[in-house]
Amino acid sequence: MNTNIQNFINGEYVGNVSGKTFENRNPVDNSLIGLVHEAGRLEVDAAVAAAKRALSGPWGQLSVIERVKLLDAVAVEINRRFDDFLQAEIADTGKPSHLASHVDIPRGAANFQIFADTIKNMSTESFEMRTPDGKTALSYGVRVPRGVIAVVCPWNLPLLLMTWKVGPALACGNTVVVKPSEETPLTATLLGEVMNTVGVPAGVYNVVHGFGPDSAGAFLTSHPDVNGITFTGETGTGTAIMKAAADGIRPVSLELGGKNAALVFEDCDFQVAVDTVTRSCFENAGQVCLGTERVYVQRPIFERFVAALKEKAESMTPGRPFDAQTRIGPLVSKEHQRKVLSYYEKAREEGATIVTGGGIPAMPDDLKDGCWVQPTIWTGLPETASVVTEEVFGPCCHISPFDTEDEVLAKVNDNRYGLATSIYTQDIGRANRLARQIEVGLCWINSWFLRDLRTPFGGSKQSGIGREGGVHSFEFYTELRNVMVKY
Ligand code: NAD
Repeated sequence: MNTNIQNFINGEYVGNVSGKTFENRNPVDNSLIGLVHEAGRLEVDAAVAAAKRALSGPWGQLSVIERVKLLDAVAVEINRRFDDFLQAEIADTGKPSHLASHVDIPRGAANFQIFADTIKNMSTESFEMRTPDGKTALSYGVRVPRGVIAVVCPWNLPLLLMTWKVGPALACGNTVVVKPSEETPLTATLLGEVMNTVGVPAGVYNVVHGFGPDSAGAFLTSHPDVNGITFTGETGTGTAIMKAAADGIRPVSLELGGKNAALVFEDCDFQVAVDTVTRSCFENAGQVCLGTERVYVQRPIFERFVAALKEKAESMTPGRPFDAQTRIGPLVSKEHQRKVLSYYEKAREEGATIVTGGGIPAMPDDLKDGCWVQPTIWTGLPETASVVTEEVFGPCCHISPFDTEDEVLAKVNDNRYGLATSIYTQDIGRANRLARQIEVGLCWINSWFLRDLRTPFGGSKQSGIGREGGVHSFEFYTELRNVMVKY
């Protein structure tokens, strides 16, 4: 394991001038993984300058096909070093290995392949017209890279969500400076080795470590030579970043928080609904932006559904990532554990019926210092309660009964977030009607977390601005220029 976690600038691993470091701890048992070099203004300046220079170096001269070959090679190399990435991601997050090996790492590699494939087939529009003097003019579009892209990332799916931005940004010919979450610095750092191995020119991919305000995050997003900012994280942070981007009129792509609802109708396939809502509430210990924290169940099946979800929640064995029986890992950090437990407390104070959980599970001595919380289900709260309106980002949900489609639609839409929803019903007319009326960017019917990377992804309302995925990513990572020729 890398115990000295450095910034990656201009193709080299570098510490920082000030010698300032911070601890990176394993959330399973709070053991020390290593010391992370916190980038100051000097390091951020160096990373942005390297990224800017690289735009006019060999990288800028490559044809699309040459870039595509390099990105394919990045994907192949991530897969070749699958185990290194798996160990790094698991050390940072504590997530069960079955999850990281089926989702985080393969999707991290796929993000380079899919955008390499997509850019090969991108076309632009062209129009021909007559000019007043009887000649002909042709207008056509060309897509040019925006320049230096700042990629500011969260900790819940570190490699997956970072490459989801870096893949398309590089496919379009930009260069990037990545600011991984302070909680999960390892896989972004390791990706630097991959870039060097496959021959991505120095300065194309850079990583600076640190925090948000008064640290690498703020220095990067306010840097005048950054031409675009793509961010995934909390809505409050997105607000600060949008303000920073206003100086210099830089474009932003924001993927933010959510308070996602599941709607379970009495005509659903009961087992599909229970199994899928179990995943959407508790997978990755509830630390998935698309996860469900509000469940609305039609009254005739309410009691049965609550009992079935309770049984599922109680079967989620916490444990070490590589233990075969482990079904749920810890939260990412002590700080996040405190936040989630404070919501568990608020739910109790606001009068919730605690169906299951509500605290810290009993763990063996060697894991007692980890960031564990119990999967938790509440009922009986009004729609105004804290855990029904605010994003907790833990393995928990509130379940309420409803009678009619109109009633549940009004409740679901009465929230400042609008990221995702899932609807469980056999009535295809109703499912499609609701999909158009629920104010979200993503709607699943009888499923959850199914992603086709060619399709648009993003949030409505305070869950974000912009759509990425497939050709939609290229709207953000390129500037569309119109060229007019008279002949
Ligand atoms: P966060 O907003 O606390 O941090 C995200 C990143 O922003 C970190 O790298 C952090 O250091 C940096 N940062 C913080 N303040 C900053 C500032 N002022 N300027 C620049 N950078 C700053 O989010 P988190 O706790 O890491 O992640 C959890 C949140 O992310 C949840 O709200 C979740 O819903 C959201 N999320 C959304 C999506 C999506 O696709 N919509 C996906 C994953 C996570």
